[in-house]
Amino acid sequence: MTEKLSAEEFDLNLAAVESRLTAALEKSGRKREDITLLAATKTVDAKTVNYAISKGIDYIGENKVQELLSKYNDIDPVHKHFIGHLQTNKVKDIIDKVELIQSVDSIKLAKEISKQAQKIGKTVDVLIEVNIGGEESKWGFTPENTAEAVAEIANLPNIAVKGLMSIPPVCNSAEENRKYFRKMYKLFIDIDSQKIDNSSMSILSMGMSDDFDIAVEEGATLIRLGTALFGKRIYK
Ligand SMILES: *Cc1c(COP(=O)(O)O)cnc(C)c1O
Repeated sequence: MTEKLSAEEFDLNLAAVESRLTAALEKSGRKREDITLLAATKTVDAKTVNYAISKGIDYIGENKVQELLSKYNDIDPVHKHFIGHLQTNKVKDIIDKVELIQSVDSIKLAKEISKQAQKIGKTVDVLIEVNIGGEESKWGFTPENTAEAVAEIANLPNIAVKGLMSIPPVCNSAEENRKYFRKMYKLFIDIDSQKIDNSSMSILSMGMSDDFDIAVEEGATLIRLGTALFGKRIYK
């Protein structure tokens, strides 16, 4: 393990996450198997990631290409997602290394994923990133443009749209994000009801360490947790 995080601390963190999750599931009448817990592993070394995997973490997400590549060979078998902003010129570096790209935030990026996926004869699952808070600083499609983007991207070869992902604005309290999670769920259901060819709305990725309970209450199917599992990151 790392100097920053002991095995015992991770075990306690995971138990605390599961108990928050249980409370949110009880409140909303949902089941544990409806939720995928993905560990956001930025800044976490491979050894610690492998420990988390040994404790039952079966999905991990990296948000930087360089970091994903540098740890890739040292990480035990697990479902791997890409969750950060992806530059088109880096798509080829990760296309064969992740099973799902959560953060498709432009048509241009989707086209490049399609192109690179064709080259290796693979179909890549993606989520469409929605800028639900309408923030200028954030990546993603506006809620108004999302259905159209899903339709256009679903039409590309070797790419399969599986749902939506969002990172709501930074709020002072988790409760403030409830309105964004509700908006996301509504959009998710609305697009699902449109039955867009070659797409499915099966994954709604929202909720992070501070607010995943609220996201689960509001319909998230996948939560992305970093700090709650691994402790505070030290950025260099
Ligand atoms: C880091 C990260 C997370 C996890 O954030 P925490 O607040 O530490 O749980 C989730 N999603 C994305 C896209 C991230 O980059």
